[in-house]
Amino acid sequence: MSQKYEQIYEQLCQHARETALLTATESMLGWDERTNMPPEAAEYRAEQMTLLSGIIHQRRTEARLGEWLGELANSPLAADPHSDSGTTIRQSKREYDKRVKLPQSLVEELTRTASLGQHAWQTARTDNDYRTFQPLLAKTFELKRAQAEALGYVDEPYDALLDDFEPGERTSNITRVLADLREALVPLVSAIAHSGRQPEVSILARRYPTEMQEWFSRGAAAKIGFDFCRGRLDVTAHPFCTGLGPHDCRITTRYDEHFFNTAFFGTLHEAGHGIYDQGLPTDQYGLPPSEAISLGIHESQSRLWENLVGRSRAFWKFFFPAAQQAFPDCLADETLDSFYFAINDVRPSLIRVEADEATYNLHILIRFELERALLNDELAVADLPDAWNAKYAQYLGIRPETDADGVLQDIHWSAGLVGYFPTYSLGNLYASQFFAQANADLGDLSSQFAHGEFAPLNEWLRMNIHAHGQRYSAGELVQRITGKPLSHAPLIDHLFQKLAPLYGLK
Ligand code: ZN
Repeated sequence: MSQKYEQIYEQLCQHARETALLTATESMLGWDERTNMPPEAAEYRAEQMTLLSGIIHQRRTEARLGEWLGELANSPLAADPHSDSGTTIRQSKREYDKRVKLPQSLVEELTRTASLGQHAWQTARTDNDYRTFQPLLAKTFELKRAQAEALGYVDEPYDALLDDFEPGERTSNITRVLADLREALVPLVSAIAHSGRQPEVSILARRYPTEMQEWFSRGAAAKIGFDFCRGRLDVTAHPFCTGLGPHDCRITTRYDEHFFNTAFFGTLHEAGHGIYDQGLPTDQYGLPPSEAISLGIHESQSRLWENLVGRSRAFWKFFFPAAQQAFPDCLADETLDSFYFAINDVRPSLIRVEADEATYNLHILIRFELERALLNDELAVADLPDAWNAKYAQYLGIRPETDADGVLQDIHWSAGLVGYFPTYSLGNLYASQFFAQANADLGDLSSQFAHGEFAPLNEWLRMNIHAHGQRYSAGELVQRITGKPLSHAPLIDHLFQKLAPLYGLK
């Protein structure tokens, strides 16, 4: 009997590993499209990618998969939910059951609307004309509601959509954590704005030659643990990290000669994503024990290296002398303190992707509250720009003058990504909670960083997070590692401990 299950399980794994060969190939084409591909090649590349994604979708919804998973779900192989086989069966079944719930016609309509939506958004943003985008946005939310209904949910439609990005997470839980965060964050940001102190941020806007930036960022990425024998760093317009195989992780960045932060912190961020991917167990490649848990957990790894480590004083105690040597015209006469304050500048701004570590989360809150209201029919798409501007005034104390700098700034909704935004803040929250625990477990991380020692933290992350793949849900993992459910408190503690001395807060 058990031999029968073993055989079915082997077939399931073989099937998944073959699908992974195709998805890695698709990622390869996508990486090339965004880094090296000549513009004239776009049309044929789109045909290649459409064909491949169609083949992948077919494979993932094959009836025999459903039969195998039905047999295996109650077999001894699934008995321990955290074993390799238990994880593989549970997670594969979860994905399969979701995929077959969506009618083909709805999937196609969503894909088509996302494609048209992104074009309409691009034009509307350039022309600062929300009204031309409004009909497609309304259609998108209509389809997302249909998607939520087809998938099913417990409390509200948002749950069904959130589950695509943060499996198992509930809207009610996120609402609670983000509301607590807002309560603490709004007064903190306001106190900073009224502190009368501001760093000299012009330090970061001097001329930092691109080739030196590349050399310096690459060195820092390697130092914190990104393995360049199993990965690459390339240039792109909108940086990302992608995996092309068990030993091939691609990270990307962009360079601004007159702003140090763009490439340096962007590279640390993507290297953090890359270190997570490189830490997943390679022998299970293509199977859930070797896959990332959620976007929130993935983002926690990038934010941890970018902010908790990369924006710490200890990190720059080690790197600042090297930065002074690499950029003598910019930094030779500066002190560690002035540089450290500049990279930790906090001030309310209109654009999410340029926001600092503290105000960033308020940008996310605004999007979360608005998209949830749209989905629940509590807000009309026509009234969205006014609602957006009112929330910016309320939470950040500033009001966009144009929709291009307001409601039209992000691509997500136009691409049908509803329920995605909270994962950015979840990343910040998880990062702080994990980091506080790592600090307790490993002793004084600061003194390690000040000596350029990043391996202990890296090993801690690999053992506690990366090595598990999808063995635990995000919620289970944070409970397991820190002994507590997700909370806003570690992030607020981290921000206050860093920012209070800089801004003279009590
Ligand atoms: Zn990221």
